[in-house]
Amino acid sequence: MNVFPVILSAPSGGGKTTITHELLARRSDVGYSVSCTTRPPRADEVNGKDYYFLSTADFLERQQHGEFAESAAVHGHLYGTLRSEVARVLGDGRHVIMDIDVHGAAQFRAVFPESVLIYVLPPSGEVLLERLRRRQTETPETLKKRLVSALGELRAVPMFQYVVLNDELEQAVSNVSRIIDAEGLRRERLQNVERDVRRIIERLEKEMNDMN
Ligand code: 5GP
Repeated sequence: MNVFPVILSAPSGGGKTTITHELLARRSDVGYSVSCTTRPPRADEVNGKDYYFLSTADFLERQQHGEFAESAAVHGHLYGTLRSEVARVLGDGRHVIMDIDVHGAAQFRAVFPESVLIYVLPPSGEVLLERLRRRQTETPETLKKRLVSALGELRAVPMFQYVVLNDELEQAVSNVSRIIDAEGLRRERLQNVERDVRRIIERLEKEMNDMN
């Protein structure tokens, strides 16, 4: 199957989680890699669905055993993508979508160079600030941490292959979906293209020879 990893990054409040959920609901050929984190769960989060919530000791042990394809500290907590999660989704014949920070995205691409990197850009600074403030879970201290990391995330945009403006959700979801479809048609990703082209050439050459 012609499947590959798709990385979505954005500053906190950029809307990538909503886009990810929408894509998963709409496309059966996309699966989610559940990340590990040492952050405590929020009220509505489910272990094994939103994240695997680990103790720091457990996280570090897994890291030492090489279980992560990438890992990074974000807003003072550890986050990581399990190699086993990536293998599970790809092995299922689905594109694996990951909602990870820019440091993780750079590490991941080094391990899986076939990855597609998409940056979800909020329409303006005002909108981003408003979305960040609206988050009920944020205390002034964590809000400040998220602002600092949002700046770091924004400066990393040049490393991404695609930028999707998250002005209107429907349009943003459809753009990410179209990127996945177009990437699937890249020559390098098409499995039998060389053989198919050779066969067509051979057929035409035979015709030419028969003419002579
Ligand atoms: P949150 O705690 O709000 O769910 O996520 C905080 C940040 O951590 C987000 O920018 C998210 O993309 C990032 N993140 C979530 N999972 C991972 C992961 O597995 N690896 C990395 N590097 N970042 C992650």
